[in-house]
Amino acid sequence: MGRYTGPVCRICRREGDKLFLKGERCLSPKCAIEKRATPPGQHGQSRKKPSQYATQLREKQKMKKGYGLLETQFRNYFRAAARKKGVTGDHFIRLLESRLDNVIYRMGFAGSRRQARQLVSHGHIRVDGRKVNIASYLVRPGQEIGIREKSREIPPVQEAAKFAAARPIPSWLEVDLAEKRGRILAVPAVGEVDLRVREQLVVEFYSR
Ligand code: SF4
Repeated sequence: MGRYTGPVCRICRREGDKLFLKGERCLSPKCAIEKRATPPGQHGQSRKKPSQYATQLREKQKMKKGYGLLETQFRNYFRAAARKKGVTGDHFIRLLESRLDNVIYRMGFAGSRRQARQLVSHGHIRVDGRKVNIASYLVRPGQEIGIREKSREIPPVQEAAKFAAARPIPSWLEVDLAEKRGRILAVPAVGEVDLRVREQLVVEFYSR
């Protein structure tokens, strides 16, 4: 299946939670979830109690859409996490949080993960002073991430800066919002994801 191009707030309503796909609007009373949290469609309000499978499936969809990934990419992260020793769900979260587009978003340099991905693919991002234009690039502790000097004044970066302070910066990141740069202090902390996801249900879904 290709990438969804319809109204993005509909995705949040379908999953019944805020996925922060639309930048500043997500933090305002205009957010569709704040106004109407029922699933979209004619029968949105009349759904029965979901089965265990349906609950796991919805959690998987929510997490996948929150990170803006396609099914194959998302499943590949799960497989990579499952191959590691330790708790699969924790590795899964760490891999997803380590993506460069996610880091740009979590640092407050972009209003959404989707916008962060555009900044990366358009060549506005530097990692340790070198251009990286691959959104799936996995960052490592110690690396310095920043917006290219010439790109610091472009509208999306300026817009994101206006409300970056309203979003919590995770403890594994150090950010200088004025200079538009930051550092990876540690591996991503599992409990600091901004999405309300129950990764264990996703692990159960893929482990069936
Ligand atoms: Fe729309 Fe953002 Fe609210 Fe989701 S969180 S419904 S994308 S405004």
